[in-house]
Amino acid sequence: MVRNLCVVFGDQLNRDAVLFDAFDPAKDRIWMAESDMEASGYVWSHKQRIAIFLSAMRHFAEDCRKDGLPIDYHALDDQKETCSLGSLLSEALEKFSPAAVHVTKPGEWRIERGLRKVCRKFNVPLEIFPDRHFLSDPAAFAEYAQKRKVLRMEYFYRDQRKKAGILMEAGKPVGDTWNFDKENRGHFGKEGPSEPGVGPGIKPDRITRAVLELVEKRFSSHPGSLKDFRWAVTPSDAAKVEDVFVQKHLPQFGQYQDAMWTGQPWLYHSLLSSALNLKLLDPMRLIKRVEKAGKDGDAPLPAVEGFIRQIVGWREYVRNIYWTFMPGYLERNYLDLHGSLPDFYWTGETELVCLREALGQTLRHGYAHHIQRLMVTGLYALLLGVDPRKVHEWYLAVYVDAVEWVELPNTMGMSQYADGGLMASKPYLATGKYIDRMSNYCKTCPCNPAKRTGEKACPFTVLYWDSLQQHKDKLSGNQRMSLQLRNLDRISTEEKKAICQQASRIRKKPADIPS
Ligand code: FAD
Ligand code: SF4
Repeated sequence: MVRNLCVVFGDQLNRDAVLFDAFDPAKDRIWMAESDMEASGYVWSHKQRIAIFLSAMRHFAEDCRKDGLPIDYHALDDQKETCSLGSLLSEALEKFSPAAVHVTKPGEWRIERGLRKVCRKFNVPLEIFPDRHFLSDPAAFAEYAQKRKVLRMEYFYRDQRKKAGILMEAGKPVGDTWNFDKENRGHFGKEGPSEPGVGPGIKPDRITRAVLELVEKRFSSHPGSLKDFRWAVTPSDAAKVEDVFVQKHLPQFGQYQDAMWTGQPWLYHSLLSSALNLKLLDPMRLIKRVEKAGKDGDAPLPAVEGFIRQIVGWREYVRNIYWTFMPGYLERNYLDLHGSLPDFYWTGETELVCLREALGQTLRHGYAHHIQRLMVTGLYALLLGVDPRKVHEWYLAVYVDAVEWVELPNTMGMSQYADGGLMASKPYLATGKYIDRMSNYCKTCPCNPAKRTGEKACPFTVLYWDSLQQHKDKLSGNQRMSLQLRNLDRISTEEKKAICQQASRIRKKPADIPS
């Protein structure tokens, strides 16, 4: 007889979860399952994304076993047929007939709905516990959202800092400023980055090696490569990645947060998103450590504040947006875009240097930093007019840190403006000149970022002006777009026509150099 069947999903690998507070090994049982439907049924996952989840889950299960916790673990190796999580859980409910199913709030609306459905079918009570890994509560945010016309991250972030006393002094923000964003927009100049990161650097152990073999065999047609898999899959691996970041890269994190450089995928970023999202790291402890590094004079305040804002602000905010506006959020398409995602997003085959770099490292490592996602791959998809849902499916598939609660608002809201400004005060639209300023990509690209028509005109620049024309009516009510739209009005009718013709050729061959 099982009292509580405690379901643990692949992104809930946290023994401090509420679920374990009253866990009794004599009465309760943990249930975990690997499902190939999760790897290829919903989105066509990158091999490294599949591997990081499976390896981290297997490590978690092994630790539970070592600690004497009873666990029912369904490994993919034993499954001949394609299995969904729902069908695997149904089998478990038949086998154990538990008095109740316990679970931490899932990271995906679809999973929570599926879980409720299965429990209803078997008439088993389901208890969903809040996820104490996070610092804020989606239900409280939904209430806060009802009282506000606009839901900008900045005000939420300030409230979070006040509530938790993070970077606060006598009721005021440390340094008398809430946000050091302006100081965090540096680029590398001609010299390039000095001593940039070398990647997460975790050597695959026995469990990871077995998973890599399994993924290579079972998901051979999936995108990406496993050759350089070095991601953290346990709390102690994650602590190592965290040490390198805090001790070595944090001081430069702020200044170069938005900068990009050819052949340098890691730069001064923490590389901690996957460990955080799998729940191998406690965000509050990480924040306190970073705050202390600032207090001790080991990192400048703009770097410390910049990092803390990402976790206390953006990470919490997007999760709350997700749970407040799902499932409808998934359907949003404010700019009414219906194009398909170009094939080269899955291969990286293009001579356009910025895209080749961002896509190449995505396929090689399952990683690209924020500005590469937002202002290279995301921006290009938006300018091409790709259906935001297709863009979402790509981002959910290709990054090792991708879980829907964090990926979807970043993609549909921040990057594609599909929510019509719920998250971002204006669409992130820019010409190739932005990429030129923030990187050295354009220096070796056959295209010219300043050119908006003609041979070798930068496709970002051509499409930027064309997109402004296309969406003028929808954007003209937005005060923050007025300068961009005024600049559009300065372009002659003749040139606008040439831009429009060239843009339509680019949309047919988006990986090519414009002729
Ligand atoms: P760092 O640059 O070192 O930042 C520190 C931490 O802050 C990250 O580890 C992350 O936990 C958090 N963070 C930073 N920015 C954001 C943000 N905008 N939203 C939420 N958390 C943030 N992040 C994911 O974790 N999973 C995703 O699936 C994901 N998809 C994205 C899709 C798009 C289109 C965009 C524009 C951004 C996406 N992000 C996503 C946010 C961000 O790009 C990544 O968190 C970051 O690049 C991860 O690298 P890092 O750990 O080195 O981050
Ligand atoms: Fe990218 Fe345009 Fe620069 Fe080429 S010129 S790297 S396409 S922004």
